[in-house]
Amino acid sequence: MADPIKSVLVVGGGTAGWMAAAALNRSLGPHCKVSLVESDDIGIVGVGEATVPPIRDFNALIGLDEAEFMRETRATLKIGIEFVDWGSRGNRYLHPFGTFGPGPTLSEFQQSFLALRAKGRIDDDLDAYSLCAQACKAGKAGARDPDPRSPLNALFTAYHFDAGLYARYLRKVCEGRGVERIEGEIVDVVQRPDDGFIDRVRLKDGRELSADLFIDCTGFRALLIEGALKAGFEDWSHWLPMNRAWAVPCERVGPTTPFTRSTARDAGWQWRIALQHRTGNGHVYCSDFMGDDEARQILLDNLDGPALAEPRPLRFTTGRRKAFWSKNVVALGLSSGFIEPLESTSIHMVQSGIYRLLQHFPDSRFSPVNIETYNRRLGAEVALIRDFVILHYHATQRDDTAFWRHMATMPIPDTLSQRVEAFRDRGLLYQSGADEYFSQGSWLAVMYGQGIMPTGHNPLYDLQNLDQIQAGFGQIARRWTQTVAAMPGHDEFLKASGMWA
Ligand code: FAD
Repeated sequence: MADPIKSVLVVGGGTAGWMAAAALNRSLGPHCKVSLVESDDIGIVGVGEATVPPIRDFNALIGLDEAEFMRETRATLKIGIEFVDWGSRGNRYLHPFGTFGPGPTLSEFQQSFLALRAKGRIDDDLDAYSLCAQACKAGKAGARDPDPRSPLNALFTAYHFDAGLYARYLRKVCEGRGVERIEGEIVDVVQRPDDGFIDRVRLKDGRELSADLFIDCTGFRALLIEGALKAGFEDWSHWLPMNRAWAVPCERVGPTTPFTRSTARDAGWQWRIALQHRTGNGHVYCSDFMGDDEARQILLDNLDGPALAEPRPLRFTTGRRKAFWSKNVVALGLSSGFIEPLESTSIHMVQSGIYRLLQHFPDSRFSPVNIETYNRRLGAEVALIRDFVILHYHATQRDDTAFWRHMATMPIPDTLSQRVEAFRDRGLLYQSGADEYFSQGSWLAVMYGQGIMPTGHNPLYDLQNLDQIQAGFGQIARRWTQTVAAMPGHDEFLKASGMWA
């Protein structure tokens, strides 16, 4: 008979560690002791401020009050990403959250759009059919209506938040619920001689911590999953060569924008994230094409307001751990791998890893089939996100720097080229199974936004009553315009809802 897991040690107290501790504590209840060890001397990576909408489900799972969470983390709402200079210099488009069209029921929105466009009955403005895109342009993001028929249900929101404050807030919540926090630096990891499972970790001061299950949230150090268990790393630098970043906060200027802005630079891109108390900025670049000093200067030259600190350098290698779960160690967060931050998917992958861990929660047998299934499903999900991120670099007409010439012509994964070709050929979009995070609307926004123009469309859509379809498109656009007009400004909404600190 297998015994239940009675103790979990979360190793690391960054975003991943505290998210894991909160969710496990909430889900496992008194049957399993959840503890967390972290080192104040090492600290956390401290970036990771943009999220995607499923974070709302996560916050609900761990029972956070939204207004309190937003005040504590100085959060703002995020309803999309604006991409500047990506497809070509001067090109600007939105990747809005949510769907295009009236809602999820209109299948293949883009085929009707392309059929009308081919007949010159509609202009190229995709944003007109997305509530989130229209709201982004108006600087609005918040409005709630409990009526299930309300058009506001098409408003998909995520958050921008201060990463340091988020970890601190989750810590407070967790400690209030009985999660034990141990401060100390791990200097040794002790494995069982018979099967190599982790038995305990040893701290600098000699204390030892043992558990049935270990969650490795030690960031890029990957202390357990790699340091001890040698899970291996699949390097994706040949597709995603970004490997460095500078990050700096600056004073906020004007009302907060409810979208992340990503501006392409000569050898990478710069993010801008507006929070309640400051604006977060970072320049992500590839060191093969740009020196550190130049990258730092580009960042400082392109801030909204005065910098509030010295820029901080970060280094990383894109890729994934070959096994996210090995023996009695599950890696979450940066220890499990990293796709660069372009589409804000890293915290989402922490969440996805936690959900799957709960689905696959082990007993003392640590069934290899269960572990293998977890690894396979998470691996499939992360590969699809990887393809979506590569798309942004691949779908460009830019050839003005060596970096962009390299990115535009580099080989891409077959899975991505098949999707791009299917869209280019006849506007075909598809979902690659239930494990795929990005929707067809996301693929449409980026492919179309960066200038991939389908040469045809599905001929069945020419057989529809195009007058009716055209009128329907007009109605949708008017509906969203009216909905946005009635919404309060972003900051106004946060203040009126008790979300502003
Ligand atoms: P960390 O924050 O590094 O935490 C590691 C923890 O392990 C720390 O508590 C540390 O003290 C502890 N630790 C390590 N070694 C030891 C030891 N020996 N003993 C004891 N404790 C130890 N994600 C997004 O979703 N959106 C974004 O916009 C985004 N932007 C990013 C931008 C950049 C440039 C980078 C690099 C990442 C970005 N990310 C983003 C990713 C995001 O920052 C991380 O996924 C998230 O912060 C989780 O980090 P972590 O908890 O895994 O690691």
